[in-house]
Amino acid sequence: MSARAAAEVLLQQLTGREPDGVWSAPGRANLIGEHTDYNEGFVLPFAIEHRTYAAVARRDDGVVRVASTFDENPVQAPLAALPTLFDRPGHGIPEWASYPLGVAWAALAKTGVDPAGLPGVDIAIASDVPIGAGLSSSAAIEGAAASALNDLWELGLSGLDLAKVGRVAENDAVGAPTGIMDQVASMLGRADAATFLDCRTLATESVDLGFDAEGLRPLVIDTRVTHSHATGGYRERRDACERGAAAMGVPALRDLLPDDLERARGLLDDVTLRRVRHIVTENQRVQDTVRTLRDRGPRSIGGLLVASHASMRDDFEISTLELDTAVDAALEAGAIGARMTGGGFGGAAIALVEGDAVERVADAAARAFARRGFGAPRTFTVTPSRGAGRDA
Ligand code: ADP
Ligand code: MG
Repeated sequence: MSARAAAEVLLQQLTGREPDGVWSAPGRANLIGEHTDYNEGFVLPFAIEHRTYAAVARRDDGVVRVASTFDENPVQAPLAALPTLFDRPGHGIPEWASYPLGVAWAALAKTGVDPAGLPGVDIAIASDVPIGAGLSSSAAIEGAAASALNDLWELGLSGLDLAKVGRVAENDAVGAPTGIMDQVASMLGRADAATFLDCRTLATESVDLGFDAEGLRPLVIDTRVTHSHATGGYRERRDACERGAAAMGVPALRDLLPDDLERARGLLDDVTLRRVRHIVTENQRVQDTVRTLRDRGPRSIGGLLVASHASMRDDFEISTLELDTAVDAALEAGAIGARMTGGGFGGAAIALVEGDAVERVADAAARAFARRGFGAPRTFTVTPSRGAGRDA
C-alpha cells in the first residue's frame, strides 16, 4: 500500500470518514554545503521522491488529534490548550506527536490566530521516508502537517514561513537543535531542481539540476554505521567554528572569503585553521556549484563534489573509513562526483552517476566494503522532486 493510501486508511479507521484533504511533504538530500548552515553560509539540498502524507478531516469539538502508522496510540489536545502546549518543558507529549502538534503550536504563535475560531482536526500520518536515515523524515512530517493546517485554518503562511514553523516545532517542541535547511528543502523543492539557501538571510533560489535531460541519477550509499562520538564531534566542530570566527573578528565564518585564509594562518592554531578552511571553501564550492549548474550543466560539478569530500576528510575531519571507501569506490566505478553527506562520523555518501551505471557503482561500493570487512552498505537512488503541497 502506498503511504498516501495508508494515511487515508488510518484516517478512516480513526474517524470512519473520508479525508477533507490530503497533504504531503518530501524528505531531502543535500547535494553540497556541509556544516555551512550554522556558520550562516550556503547549502544546496533537494527534495526527494519519498514523502510523508497527512490525511485530514475537520472535527467540530475543538480537539486536535494526531495519529501515525509509526505509533499505535493517537495523541490529542484541546485547541484551546495549543497556544501554550509546549511553552514549558515536561509537557508529556510523546516525541513523535510533538512534531505535528508542535507545528500547530508554532503556527498559531507565528500568526497570533485565536484558536477559538478554528475547527478541530484529525490528522492521520503515514510516510515512505525512511526514519533516521539522513533523509529528514522530521522535515517531511513537519512540512505535511504545516501545509495541511495552513490550508485548513487559512493561515496564509508562505512556504518559507511554514519552513520556519517546522523549525520552531523541531527546536522548541521536540527539543532537537537543528538548522532550517531540511524544512526549506522539503517545503520549496521542485522536480529536477535543488534549493540554494542562504542560511543568514534565508533568501532562496530554485536551481535547475538538469539531471533528467542528462540521464544522471543521485545514488545514496548508506554505510549503516554511525560512530559513537558523532554527537560530541558535532559539538566540537561547532565550537571550533565559533572560536575561529571570534579570533578572526567576524560574526560568523560566512563573513570570510578564501582570500582571508592567508591572514587566518597567522591567527589560528592548525586545527582551528583547518576547520575554518573547510567552511570558507565549502561556502565557495556551493556558490560555484550553482554557477556551474547554470553555465555548464550537471556533468561539470563532479570536481566540486570531490573537493567537498576531501575538505571534510582532511580539514574538517568528519569522514570515516567507510565513507571514504564509498566515495573512492564510486569514483573508481565512474561516478561523476561523490562526497559524504550529513553531519559526518558515519551516515551516507551521495554520488552523481550515469543512469545506466547505477548498478555498477552500487556493486563497486558493495565489493569495496566486503574487501575491507565492513558490513554491506545500503544503496538506493533518489530523485529530485516537488516540495510540500496539497494532493487531494
Ligand atoms: P531524520 O533524519 O529521519 O529526520 P530525526 O531523528 O530528525 O531523523 O526524526 C525522526 C523522528 O521524527 C522519529 O523518531 C519520529 O519521532 C518523527 N517522525 C518521522 N516520521 C514520522 C512519522 N511518519 N510518524 C510519526 N513520527 C515520525
Ligand atoms: Mg531530522
